[in-house]
Amino acid sequence: MYAPPVQRLITELGKLPGIGQRTAQRLAFHLLRADTEDANALADAIREVKERIGLCEVCFNLADEPRCRICQDARRDVELICVVEEPGDVIPIERTHEYRGRYHVLGGALSPIDGVDPEDLKIAELFTRVEAGGVREVVLATNPTTTGEATALHIAAALRERAPGVAVTRLASGLPVGADLEYADEVTLGKALAGRRAL
Ligand SMILES: [Zn+2]
Repeated sequence: MYAPPVQRLITELGKLPGIGQRTAQRLAFHLLRADTEDANALADAIREVKERIGLCEVCFNLADEPRCRICQDARRDVELICVVEEPGDVIPIERTHEYRGRYHVLGGALSPIDGVDPEDLKIAELFTRVEAGGVREVVLATNPTTTGEATALHIAAALRERAPGVAVTRLASGLPVGADLEYADEVTLGKALAGRRAL
């Protein structure tokens, strides 16, 4: 229907989350109309994140150096680790200004049905970090979804055995059940953090 380059752009845009066929077409036509400079800036930005952004060697958050900015920040409390599913979950927690510890990004949540098992996530790396000592509390801030809850329970049970002296807490209820942390407003999330409970 379209010239092959246009069809290719529509196909690629359509692979993005939340972008259906019609939106992909609309975006493709927008890019065709846009200045060459603006369109190239988008292409360059995509290429640059893929080339320069990797995962922090400590917490697996996004980083443009071996360690992310939070792990490099000496003012952050090293005895406190907040466990989240995705790098995108760090931002809403940072926005609450309630949390001064460090993070551990799992890279997803356990979901045996979808073939996501503990070894597919950075769970062993979390245990290694905690077992190395110097950790006072692990806050499980996985999403309040079925898979997020299952992940929190799995990690809590393992940490009770591996590191009995470390407090394991979960965000307080009040977060919309079934929703992603990413979409929680900062007041609700701040309260959930402040009111976290032992697991
Ligand atoms: Zn880090």
